[in-house]
Amino acid sequence: MEKTIQTEKKEKHLEDQIDIIKVEKLNKWFGDLHVIKDVDLTVKQGEVIVVLGPSGSGKSTFIRTLNALEELQSGTIEIDGIELTDDLKNVEEIRKETGMVFQQFNLFPHMTILKNVYLAPIWVRKWKKAKAEEIALGLLERVGIPEQANKFPGQLSGGQQQRVAIARALAMQPKIMLFDEPTSALDPEMVNEVLDVMRNLAESGMTMIVVTHEMGFARQVADRLVLFDKGEVIEMAGPEEFFDNPKHERTKLFLSQIL
Ligand code: ADP
Ligand code: MG
Repeated sequence: MEKTIQTEKKEKHLEDQIDIIKVEKLNKWFGDLHVIKDVDLTVKQGEVIVVLGPSGSGKSTFIRTLNALEELQSGTIEIDGIELTDDLKNVEEIRKETGMVFQQFNLFPHMTILKNVYLAPIWVRKWKKAKAEEIALGLLERVGIPEQANKFPGQLSGGQQQRVAIARALAMQPKIMLFDEPTSALDPEMVNEVLDVMRNLAESGMTMIVVTHEMGFARQVADRLVLFDKGEVIEMAGPEEFFDNPKHERTKLFLSQIL
């Protein structure tokens, strides 16, 4: 099993890919609270990064900052060659490139599943409704629930709703997907159906940053893992090194608490 995973990873040829995300010396404060401390991270196109760390370590703030949902105080973020500034147009450009999936699905309850998926591209990408509907239906097929298209969110299970949220993010045709604990609010029996969709997305070559506590997924799908603690990156390594031979005591302690 381990061997096949290794071979698949090699076939990605990440070394030939462009650096699609470049974060340098990123710092963020909430008032006096220093929550992101000098974080550097460069991500190759097609790479899957899993972010781990205890509660309050800055994982959510970090990925929210990448998507301009939080303002940074110093350092730089570059997404697909666009440097994030506080210019509104620039923020819009960055958001078009980055899809985001949260713990809570945040679907519009009074709209059908299909409309939840196609609404944003009609506004932002200026697609015609027919084209948007067709693409949305294709995406519902991709996440395995085309038969739910005309239902409302309240009629779906949590796992199905989260798959809709993934389809909705994909509808914007982002180059990068950010996931913030996408399975943490789900009943245990629904976790795998969402992780399967994410695994397929990773295999399709999507660049992904995933905050998760799902260690099986992390080990199997991540190209690199990053451990955050108190706003700092403690360790950054491929799965074998990270899990079997971590360099830092803090990583060993973290792994001993969760594995
Ligand atoms: P994690 O996702 O790793 O649990 P967060 O990024 O949510 O951590 O939070 C990092 C730190 O920033 C925590 O101390 C948290 O309380 C604080 N924090 C997060 N959001 C805000 C906010 N909007 N205002 C003030 N403090 C915040
Ligand atoms: Mg969080």
